Amino acid sequence: MLYIVSTPIGNLKDMTFRAVEVLKSVDLIASEDTRHTGILLKHFGIQTPQTSYFEHSRNNKEEYLIGLLKEGKSVALVSDAGTPAISDPGYRLVRAAREQGIEVTAVPGACAAVVALSLSGFPTDRFVFEGFLPQKSSGRVRRLTELKSEERTIVLYESPHRLVKALGDIAEVLGNPHVMVGRELTKKFEEVRQGDARSVSEHFMSRKPKGEVVILISQREELFHQD
Ligand code: SAM
Repeated sequence: MLYIVSTPIGNLKDMTFRAVEVLKSVDLIASEDTRHTGILLKHFGIQTPQTSYFEHSRNNKEEYLIGLLKEGKSVALVSDAGTPAISDPGYRLVRAAREQGIEVTAVPGACAAVVALSLSGFPTDRFVFEGFLPQKSSGRVRRLTELKSEERTIVLYESPHRLVKALGDIAEVLGNPHVMVGRELTKKFEEVRQGDARSVSEHFMSRKPKGEVVILISQREELFHQD
């Protein structure tokens, strides 16, 4: 059995009982970064051996893990934070396992995109996950142009040092829509800032953002201006 085990996105208390139980019981934990996951395992007294799945030799690792699973061993896939296979290469292992008829099950938990949506007050009946925008401005502008008539709430992951530039491009291309930035969600210095893209960008220009961020965009302006 391959277990897809979600781990906290910052607050260790968000670990689920089932995640601890499964990580204790499997034969091997395939981690994004063994040192990072090592801290989590130590905190919960989990002594299961780890192997790095996300390293350069991923194809070989995939074969190795599928081999173990076919022998009847149990493996848990974890990422650095949140739900594995969401915006990380874990999905390849899941696909390989399914192709081999190996049973796959999920141990759900935190996911930054869903946490941001749930505390936003933005419409969530329909949303679209766009992951990370391209790093270069030209690529970002191209991607954003494709989203011009998107009415669903748009969810983006971004690195803190590209946040201001990304918000600038969002304002420019999408006509200064309503946005939310969720920073350091579930952590001690959690910050949730909403407003038009330019004003949120100005805020983060004067206070350089640290930590991890999610951006939400809504182009349904009528919802935010009901005077
Ligand atoms: N699989 C993860 C999940 O379930 O959320 C996401 C992995 S993705 C490689 C990492 C990105 O998630 C970060 O760059 C950031 O955009 C977002 N993220 C993760 N933890 C976060 C947090 N505590 N607060 C805000 N954003 C976070």
